Amino acid sequence: MPDRHRLPQPLNRRTALHGLAAGAAVIAFDPLARTWVTAAGHPAPATGRTTTGGPFADVPPLDGTLVTDPAALAADADDFGHSVHRTPAAILRPGSVADVVTMIRFCNDQGIQVAARGQGHATNGQAQVDGGLIVETATLNAIGPVRAQQGAGTGTVTVQAGAVWSAVVHATLAQGLTPPVFTDYLELSVGGTLSVGGLGGQTHLYGAQVDNVTQLQVVTGAGELLTCSATRRPDLFRAVLAGLGQCAVIVSATLRLVTAPVTVRHFLLPYTDLATFLDDQRLLAEDDRFAYVEGEVVPDAAGAFTGYVLEAVAYGPPAGPEPDDTALLAGLRYDTSGAVTAETLDYFDFLNRLAAGVAALEQAGLWSWAHPWLNLLLPGDSAATLARTLLDGIAGQDTGPGGVVLIYPLVSDRLRTPLLRMPADPVPYLLAVLWTMDPADQAAVQARAAANAAAYETVRVAGGTQYPVGTIAMSPADWRAQYGRSWPEFAAAKQRYDPNRLLAPGQHVFTP
Ligand SMILES: Cc1cc2nc3c(=O)[nH]c(=O)nc-3n(C[C@H](O)[C@H](O)[C@H](O)COP(=O)(O)OP(=O)(O)OC[C@H]3O[C@@H](n4cnc5c(N)ncnc54)[C@H](O)[C@@H]3O)c2cc1C
Repeated sequence: MPDRHRLPQPLNRRTALHGLAAGAAVIAFDPLARTWVTAAGHPAPATGRTTTGGPFADVPPLDGTLVTDPAALAADADDFGHSVHRTPAAILRPGSVADVVTMIRFCNDQGIQVAARGQGHATNGQAQVDGGLIVETATLNAIGPVRAQQGAGTGTVTVQAGAVWSAVVHATLAQGLTPPVFTDYLELSVGGTLSVGGLGGQTHLYGAQVDNVTQLQVVTGAGELLTCSATRRPDLFRAVLAGLGQCAVIVSATLRLVTAPVTVRHFLLPYTDLATFLDDQRLLAEDDRFAYVEGEVVPDAAGAFTGYVLEAVAYGPPAGPEPDDTALLAGLRYDTSGAVTAETLDYFDFLNRLAAGVAALEQAGLWSWAHPWLNLLLPGDSAATLARTLLDGIAGQDTGPGGVVLIYPLVSDRLRTPLLRMPADPVPYLLAVLWTMDPADQAAVQARAAANAAAYETVRVAGGTQYPVGTIAMSPADWRAQYGRSWPEFAAAKQRYDPNRLLAPGQHVFTP
């Protein structure tokens, strides 16, 4: 770590930054008081600390803005979980990639920790940093151009990390192409989902979003702007994809594209037996007749999680053949007397299916409720037993407004990113309990977080892992167990690319 008491070399130029909000103009950092200083010579309001009048390190010139106004800091001291709050000292809204380089180098000199923040939809403070610098990537949101491979129905697009997936797919659909894999919700940043993995109903066919990246441009924790891919600096590429922001901030990614369908055939198939439901999901994951396979577990009137709905989607032309319902449903053992849905949807409307529900939750003030989510990856061979135990453990409990329980299969052969840790099983299952709770009842939220930790332990002992987007307190030993045989390479990359351990402290992977 750098010596926090070392005075920095004075920079040549003292400059106010472009476009700063009045009253929040950061021009310098006081390394003795550990505080940012505004143009008026006062400490920046964020810290509330008094400066000693010691020598200040000028903040270098930026194309974007560095802000410290309390409202902005409070917003970045929160996330979709709404239960962890760490207040940063300043926020960079970069006007260029060069700004990210400049500020990460500056933070290295001063020993200031840094976290990238996309849409802040992590749930447990993962994108927060106490007293450090947040790099909001939303201003780095350029997309394209889309490069179509003539006649092949494939292509690539290079997008900046702050772009959200809804904007990316809008741009690619104009060329008849699409990223192959989507998260259920599209308003997440590319950088944010590539840092965790990016799982969706198409993962059984195409892997995770991280498996569909051909190149990255990143700023390492040491402040180097580097390009990496499977063949160029492959160690860095492997350390950044699903790397929880530990080694570098992603500034842009080149994404693989495939032919988009115009419409899709969407099925909801009810089941009354967990083992049959999971077996049919596995069948569909392995025979590729559907482009998308997910599933939901629903409670009965008494609150027991004993209803199962398999969701499967076949892509129509030009991505696939004209859907034939009889062929698609052949051999499936769903309850034909239950509520079966079969409908044709516009492709984008299908991808964007959560938007209307999210708008309703926002309007009702429920989107800002606490979300102590639990996301576990179960070994396929014990998925039925583990899922039964976990579901029985939450029987009678309300997952809250908009809260759902999801379970769906993945195919290990198509998951090739080392840091996206999967159980050693050909068909692992994602089990996600997406709780929504009143944030006023913090005792209940904390109790849920503790129950999540216990559920994780049950799964870990059985050879499972967690998908690290939820709310599970992880010790350094837990992280080692999570990364297993990938740990030594991950730790070596951290040492190489973020030697001062500045990046993403909120994940607690390398910092207790
Ligand atoms: C409603 C909803 C639905 C979801 N559905 C799915 C789903 O279907 N599948 C799925 O896989 N996930 C899903 N998620 C989880 C989501 O993918 C992750 O929480 C993701 O990290 C959120 O992206 P973000 O832009 O909000 O990232 P943030 O919350 O801002 O950041 C998350 C982490 O990534 C790091 N990070 C962010 N940007 C960068 C960058 N440019 N470079 C390096 N590190 C960075 C942060 O420092 C932090 O550690 C869902 C989340 C929500 C809220």
